[in-house]
Amino acid sequence: MKRRLPFTHWAEHLLDLLFPPCCAGCASSGSLLCPACLRAIARLQEQRCARCTLPCRGADCRRCRFSSSSLFALQAVALYEEPLRTCIQHLKYRGTTRLAQPLGGMLAACYRRYHLRADLVIAVPLHAERERLRGYNHARLLADVCAHELGLPCAHPLLQRVRATAAQVGLPSSERRQNLVGAFQCQPQRSALPLSGSTILLIDDVCTTGATLEACTTALLQGGASRVQALVLAIPG
Ligand SMILES: [Zn+2]
Ligand SMILES: [Zn+2]
Repeated sequence: MKRRLPFTHWAEHLLDLLFPPCCAGCASSGSLLCPACLRAIARLQEQRCARCTLPCRGADCRRCRFSSSSLFALQAVALYEEPLRTCIQHLKYRGTTRLAQPLGGMLAACYRRYHLRADLVIAVPLHAERERLRGYNHARLLADVCAHELGLPCAHPLLQRVRATAAQVGLPSSERRQNLVGAFQCQPQRSALPLSGSTILLIDDVCTTGATLEACTTALLQGGASRVQALVLAIPG
């Protein structure tokens, strides 16, 4: 059953009338993401590997041939370029949480475009302290909108970030993986929804090296999930 999202409340529509929002992409007045910027977020065009998003033709992906991934699939909406980059930064660092609505809608459209199939939706968790400081988990906001549009249940409490980690930015791929060892833990008892045998749709904003998604997937599979498909807004250009 579809849930009513809190930010579609009538009071927010009234506030929009009184104080028209600005586009996160180009600062034009009228909407959080104007039609021109929406169109400028071009979906990925070239043929890419369904497991790691590397451009490739057919099933022979050179990255997947030489590295083992526990992810069943990885899909992205677009490249991490403008105006999507600024939109993600507004959502993540500037408190423009309502951007989760159009951006989460893009994730749902991407899920349909690539014919993904999942039983449960889970966001990449933040450590509790980081979430407390930020006031929200941006990935969870995206996941909630995406799940709502797809009519899928969310089971975020199943996956916890139990260890705060150093910032991943600037670390090479191998060190990112090392940095994340033991960072995520699956806690099936925290959700009424069964994890065992389920296909999970794992949501995050950006996938850089895949180390975070990989660490989450390992925890989910250890917890009993049968497969994990990841869906993100952006991958590096
Ligand atoms: Zn715009
Ligand atoms: Zn691949």
